[in-house]
Amino acid sequence: MKLKELFISMKNLKLLELSKIVKNEIEISQKIEIRKDPITNVISRINMERLKRPKQKGISDYCPFCPQNIEIATPKFPKEIIKEGRIKIGRAIIFPNMYPLASLHGVCVFTQEHKININEINEDEIFDGLKCSIEFFNISRKLGYLYHFIGWNHLQEAGASILHPHFQLISSKNGLKNERFIFKKCKYYWKKKGRNYWEEIVEDNERFIGKTEGFSWITPWAPIGNYEVIGVGNKSSIIDLNDKELRGMANGITKIIKGLWELGIRALNMVIFSYPYQVEWFNLNVRIIARRLPSDRAFLEIYSGEIGIEVPPEVYSKFFKKFF
Ligand SMILES: [Zn+2]
Repeated sequence: MKLKELFISMKNLKLLELSKIVKNEIEISQKIEIRKDPITNVISRINMERLKRPKQKGISDYCPFCPQNIEIATPKFPKEIIKEGRIKIGRAIIFPNMYPLASLHGVCVFTQEHKININEINEDEIFDGLKCSIEFFNISRKLGYLYHFIGWNHLQEAGASILHPHFQLISSKNGLKNERFIFKKCKYYWKKKGRNYWEEIVEDNERFIGKTEGFSWITPWAPIGNYEVIGVGNKSSIIDLNDKELRGMANGITKIIKGLWELGIRALNMVIFSYPYQVEWFNLNVRIIARRLPSDRAFLEIYSGEIGIEVPPEVYSKFFKKFF
């Protein structure tokens, strides 16, 4: 392929997503450009509005997510998406991300308390946050956004710009790159081996930690970050979880973050992989990793696709057992 042809084909590897939010009764549209590299498969989401993101440096900085500011400082969804503009369940509230990276990019503030210590975050708060997220995903589904991804960056070392604890929710029509990849591989594993990958990896082994209602907690064979723990659910989709199972997930997350705190960890990333429907070949899973400063994401992790790990998963699985 000549260079000119390569550039022409690259221009075709570009999509635009439009995100609409309402701020001070005015509707604002933002364009998110999504580019895919034809060789590396890297996907970049570009939104220059993100340059304006406020960044809290310390615990006493002004906080848009605190109860006295949240109604004024945060935007609403347009009425055609969510009639009341925001979703509120228990202690949790969901509103659109002011600086989105996808058409439907929500923020879920799950505690009214401005606290940053992960050992102070309790099960009820996580439960409310997850329940409120499911409501957002049910609304997304009706709009044709079937894939539902939950992320949590806690503290700056994990990529958070606001320190007040919050989840981020991305609903998409085709799934994010790693969601698509994992779903495809799990389906292939099922077809090839006749077994469910997730059920196999939770079978009692030296990386097994413990159980909560509807979930088994393990450390992975090849962690993607230090102290990574995975909670494997009995179902495929988060929106199918009943309150008991949702509490089981919240209970497990709380136990893991208490363990991380005891290890001296203050920051974390968490994600939840969930398939749109119940299938035999996939179990929804929660993944949590520890983050520290100086950054543990260096050239190896960023460019080589390989990860440097300090403690083997067979060793720290024994440590986490005492919290179950
Ligand atoms: Zn706050």
